[in-house]
Amino acid sequence: MARGARSPEDITPAGDAESRALRPSNSLFEDDMNTFKPLVFSGVQPTGNLHLGNYLGAIRKFVALQENNDCIYCVVDLHAITAQLVHDDLRGQIRSIAAAFIASGIDPKKHIVFNQSAVPQHAELAWVFNCVARIGWMNRMTQFKDKAGKDRENASLGLLAYPSLMAADILVYRATHVPVGDDQKQHLELARDIAQKFNIDFQDKIRLTDTGVDMVVGEEPIHGYFPLVEPLIDGPAPRVMSLRDGTKKMSKSDPSDLSRINLMDDQDEILKKIRKAKTDPEGLPSDVEGLKGRPEADNLVGIYAALADKTKEQVIAEFGGQQFSVFKPALADLAVHVLAPITTEMRRLMDDTTHIDAILRDGGERARARAEKVMGEVFDIVGFLR
Ligand code: ATP
Ligand code: MG
Repeated sequence: MARGARSPEDITPAGDAESRALRPSNSLFEDDMNTFKPLVFSGVQPTGNLHLGNYLGAIRKFVALQENNDCIYCVVDLHAITAQLVHDDLRGQIRSIAAAFIASGIDPKKHIVFNQSAVPQHAELAWVFNCVARIGWMNRMTQFKDKAGKDRENASLGLLAYPSLMAADILVYRATHVPVGDDQKQHLELARDIAQKFNIDFQDKIRLTDTGVDMVVGEEPIHGYFPLVEPLIDGPAPRVMSLRDGTKKMSKSDPSDLSRINLMDDQDEILKKIRKAKTDPEGLPSDVEGLKGRPEADNLVGIYAALADKTKEQVIAEFGGQQFSVFKPALADLAVHVLAPITTEMRRLMDDTTHIDAILRDGGERARARAEKVMGEVFDIVGFLR
C-alpha cells in the first residue's frame, strides 16, 4: 500500500465491513488533494435487475462504509454498453440502480450518488489508461473471457477495455478503497498495476508538476500520483452463486430469472425461486465441513448466514440434519423479511422519478467538480496543452 495514504493501518484485511471502517475524514470537498485521504468508490452496472448477490456482495457494504468514510457510489452506465450495445430502457435501469442505493440506506447528501456518463472525465482518464495498460493484461481477465465466450473476435473493444475504464472510475477521484464482490478482485489488481505503471512512467513529470505523494512501491520509494487501491472484498457473502447452478455466480445478465432473487421480486416470486433452487438429494450436513463439494447447499447456507448476520456454523447448528423442505421455507421467509422494506421503498422511488433524477443531477455536479481537478493535473502530467 502506498505510504502516502493517510490511514492504511486502519484497514484490516478481513472481517465484516463495519470492523474495516476507515478513519473518518471531514469532507469529500476539501481542497487538499495532495495526500491520499481515504475515499471509498464503487459502482454497479445498469444491466438488469439487481439481485441478492449485488446486495450482499456490494450494496450492503456500501451502506456500512458510509458511516465512517467519504463515499462515492456510481451507476456505471458507460460499462453497461460493453457487453450489449442496445438496451430497451437504459434510463429506467439507471434510475432503478440509484433507487436501490437510496432504498438500501445510502445517504446521497452526505455522500455522492451519480451516473458515470454525467462525468466525462471517466472516459477521458480511461483513454489515458488504455495507453498505459498492455493488451496482454486485458487478455488475461477472466470476466472478459467469460463474457466474450467462444467468439472473442466478435466481442466489443469496450468489453476488452472494461477494466481500464473501471480503473479510471476509481482513480479519477484518487479513491483509495473499493468495496466489491469477489468477482471483481482481478480487475482491482489490474487497477493497481495501471496506477503503478502510470506513477513510475511519469515519475519525473509528477515531480515537476508538484502533484504527487511520496509512496513505496514494492521496496522502491517513488513520488506517485495515483494511490494503489485497496479492494474491500471480505464480508459475509463475497460471491453469491446462481440458484440454478452452484458453480456459477448469480448475475444480472444470466438469461434465467430463476437463477437469482431480484431486489424487486415479490414474496411469491422469492418463495417460488427458493423452492425451485437446485439442491442435491441429501439434507443439510451436521457440520460445516459437510458442505464441501456440495456447492448448492453451501450457497443456500451462505445466503441464510449473510441475511441473518450469522456464521455458517451457527446456521448449521440450527438446521444441521434437516431436509431442504424445512430449510428452504425458512430461508425464503428470511429473504422476504430482509428485502421487503427495500423493495417497497424502491417501488415508491420509481413511481415518481423526479427525486431520483434530482439526486443523480446533484451527485453528478459534485463528482464532476472533483474529477475535473484530477483530470487537469493528469493533463499537466502527461503534457497536453490546456
Ligand atoms: P453483470 O452480469 O451485468 O456483470 P452483475 O450481477 O455481475 O451484472 P455488476 O454490476 O457487474 O453486477 O456488479 C456490481 C457489484 O456487485 C460488484 O461489486 C460485483 O462484484 C458485485 N456482485 C455481482 N454479482 C455478485 C455475486 N453473485 N455475489 C457477490 N457480489 C456480486
Ligand atoms: Mg458483473
